[in-house]
Parts: sequence; C-alpha cells; structure tokens
Amino acid sequence: MDHEDLRRAIVDGCHALEAQGLNRGASGNVSVRACGEMLITPSGVAYDRLAPEMVAGMPLSEPDGRWSGPMKPSSEWRFHRDLLRARPDLNAVVHTHAPFCTILSILRRPIPAIHYMMAAFGGVDIRVAPYATYGTAALSAHVVAAMDGRNGCLMANHGMVVGGPDLTRALWLAGELEALAHQHYHALALGGGHILSDADIADAAKGFASYGVQPRHG
Ligand SMILES: [Zn+2]
Repeated sequence: MDHEDLRRAIVDGCHALEAQGLNRGASGNVSVRACGEMLITPSGVAYDRLAPEMVAGMPLSEPDGRWSGPMKPSSEWRFHRDLLRARPDLNAVVHTHAPFCTILSILRRPIPAIHYMMAAFGGVDIRVAPYATYGTAALSAHVVAAMDGRNGCLMANHGMVVGGPDLTRALWLAGELEALAHQHYHALALGGGHILSDADIADAAKGFASYGVQPRHG
C-alpha cells in the first residue's frame, strides 16, 4: 500500500473502532509504519470529521517530535513511535480506552489465560503497564516493556494498546483484547473461574502461527 492507501486505511480503521464501541470518548488513535515514517491519527479531530489528508507523519528515526501535515499528531504519539522503533515485527499500533480493558486497567489486574484466544497475544497473560502521565516518555517506556514479546497490553488507569504486522491484524486484536477483558470482568464477578495451563496456550498458539492470517476457530 502507498501512503495514500495507508491514510485511507487509518481513517477506515478509526471508523471500525467506533462501530465496535472501542473508541470510548474519541480516545482511540491508530498508527502505521510507512517507509521509515509513522503515519498517525491527528490530535483533537472527531472520527466523523477525520479525512485521510489530516493524518500526520512523523519520522521514526528522529529523537524529537518532528512531524508533518496540516494537523499535529495524536498526543499519544510517543508510545506509538517507540513501539514501531523497538518492534520490527509490528507495522501497526492501535490504542483505545475500550471500556472493559480500562476497567481492568484501573484494578491493575493482568488478564490471565481465561480463554484460548489469549494465544493470539504471544503469551499466557496480558500485562498491565504501570501508570505514567499520557504522552510522556515514562509512559512510553512502560508500554514498550509491557509489550515485550506480546501483541497487546493494558495501561494502568488509562486503557489498552495492541500491535500487529498490519493494520487489519491490529484492529482485529483490539476487538479480541476487549473481548478477553469483558469475559474476565464477568468471570471475576462470578467468583473467578479456571485458568488455562501454559501447555494449553502453547497448543492454541500453533493455530495462530500464520503470519498476518486470522485464525479459524469456533
Ligand atoms: Zn489514551
């Protein structure tokens, strides 16, 4: 995809987050890697007004926050950029304040292996990145650490972030992470439940190995 296609895909992705109820209070932001640059949703634009030309560009190689475009990038650009820099396996990052992820982030409870779909995230649990003020380098460092070897994490008293090899996969993971949080929330309310073993998750992971392909299941 060229830059124009990627900008359109980002706008479409934002609309998909909205349609799934994942974009609590217009909090979501989306980024993709594009030839040494990061394309990211702009700051302070409602999704129904978002147009492809409003998507901001930021060089991945520079230490500062230099950007290009008619509107400044999302105030959350730092952890998007740092994840794309630290993780060559990720080409798209999605961040939202999805309701159930955010509730569990307030409890600062990792999500254990309550469902085999956990295997899609590269480990046996979803970690919680410690709290730091939005937009800061401290928050970014916490997120990069919580994402080590994983495709998703919660962010304490804030929300969640997922990353994937492409935007389609990252958007799919955003919905799956909110589903896990929703399931865990209700299981906790009913007293807990059973947690799958590491071997169960390793077995399930075999079906998630195809790069960029969504698993068949059900
Ligand atoms: Zn946020």
